Amino acid sequence: MIKTVDIKSMSYEECRNLFASLGEPAYRADQVLEWLHGRQVTSYDEMTNLPGSLRRALAEASPLCAPEVLAVQSSAEGTTKYLIGLADGNAVETVLMEHDYGLSLCVSSQVGCAMGCAFCASGLGGLVRNLTCGEMVDQILAVSLDIATGSQDRRVGSVVMMGSGEPLANYDNVLKFVRLINWKRGYGIGYRRITISTCGIVPGIHRLAEEGLPVTLSVSLHAPDDSTRSSLMKINEVYPIGQLIDACTDYADSTGRRVTYEYCLIGGVNDSKAHAESLASLVRGTLCHVNIIPLNPVEETGFVRPSREAIDAFASTLRFAGIETTIRREMGADIDAACGQLRRRWGRGEGERASDKRRGKG
Ligand code: SAH
Repeated sequence: MIKTVDIKSMSYEECRNLFASLGEPAYRADQVLEWLHGRQVTSYDEMTNLPGSLRRALAEASPLCAPEVLAVQSSAEGTTKYLIGLADGNAVETVLMEHDYGLSLCVSSQVGCAMGCAFCASGLGGLVRNLTCGEMVDQILAVSLDIATGSQDRRVGSVVMMGSGEPLANYDNVLKFVRLINWKRGYGIGYRRITISTCGIVPGIHRLAEEGLPVTLSVSLHAPDDSTRSSLMKINEVYPIGQLIDACTDYADSTGRRVTYEYCLIGGVNDSKAHAESLASLVRGTLCHVNIIPLNPVEETGFVRPSREAIDAFASTLRFAGIETTIRREMGADIDAACGQLRRRWGRGEGERASDKRRGKG
């Protein structure tokens, strides 16, 4: 008799240990994980190279079900937001974005968020709980099943941990998820195509640097000085800018990977020429680039987006100072799927299912 387990939350090694403990050959782990993450099946019956007795035992020990998609909403420019139901009645959003380099999925790591950044919608209700690895897998699984039904072979090619939650506050589950989706016979997403975004949890950045994985580190900087940053982000009181930049430099040094500094541009708060100049001096000489995110206004916060001219002027000042700078293309603002706008707008138990709610799918 197998003890109850959550097979979608198991690492490759844990799965091998499980089958070893059952007296099954180690290759059973490869078979099962390939079915789950490579072929994305949602029942053991489909795992035709497993003996029936083993399939039945697994179904009892770790029942499988397809992820529950509560709602799907598509925006004009090719962004699709999925609301995924969790077994305990919570729900999280995951957002699929079409880029010229392929499909990228924005994955949530927590229900809600404890970080309380002043401009962000995800933290408005505080943290509810961490997601398990399996619940993160279910986000990519739900989307993969949805997009595979079309005529072309469409697959998620990159993953950004920029949905709701702070990934480094759910470190172990996030790292397990990252390794699992990298597994060659599963989703096979290269580490360089996986981005972990953090509000600046310094010990987590140092820990990540030691993993030896070339994942992209994205840091939500949003201000070049401690007083502005502390007014926007509570985490800055714990890990001020000096420590944060040191941790990022350590990350770049140990991984050889360029760090992305996200800079959410907020009208009249952090968007002056002086802010741009002090940002340039702060990061100059480090392996990095700056990605400007024009604020997506969240009603409750009262912050406004700067004008197009102000955004361009900020970028020009940075570029003139020799800092590589991009301005994030806006995606999904019309469906509240853009950064910081992910919110649990749908309650569960309304009697509506995905099929009732799907709309505007192209
Ligand atoms: N907790 C992680 C990842 C989630 S947020 C982090 O802080 O990095 C993804 C990005 O969107 C972060 O850079 C975040 O600061 C930014 N963001 C949050 N609210 C925003 C808003 N209203 N407009 C623009 N960007 C926002």
